[in-house]
Amino acid sequence: MSKSIKKIIKKKEKILEIEKQRKSLIKFLLSDCELVEGSFIDVLVRCGRSGCHCEEKPIHPVTRLSWWENGKLKNKIVRVADRQWVKELSYNYKKHKQALRDLVKLNEKEKEIIKTVIKLKATKYE
Ligand SMILES: [Zn+2]
Repeated sequence: MSKSIKKIIKKKEKILEIEKQRKSLIKFLLSDCELVEGSFIDVLVRCGRSGCHCEEKPIHPVTRLSWWENGKLKNKIVRVADRQWVKELSYNYKKHKQALRDLVKLNEKEKEIIKTVIKLKATKYE
């Protein structure tokens, strides 16, 4: 077996591995998983009532959700009753964004491998 055929076989194996990863990313991205757009942060705030301990330093825990809309960063305080599900769904959103970035990286990686395969397959006209 020629050297370049061995190399091509290796590259094909890599492509198959990438395809497997891509398939699982797509499956996740297209799943019925619910999302909330934005990322949350837990912060301590002042309530504004005079005489409250928070006058010295903020002590009241608040969950804030922020997201980009038309180039502007939007903010919203999450109601206590909604905290848990908003956090979960916002986390899902984060995972989706990450999966999309991973997909783009995979595509790039695959493209480079295929370029190499094309080179290996080609004969030079001399
Ligand atoms: Zn207070």
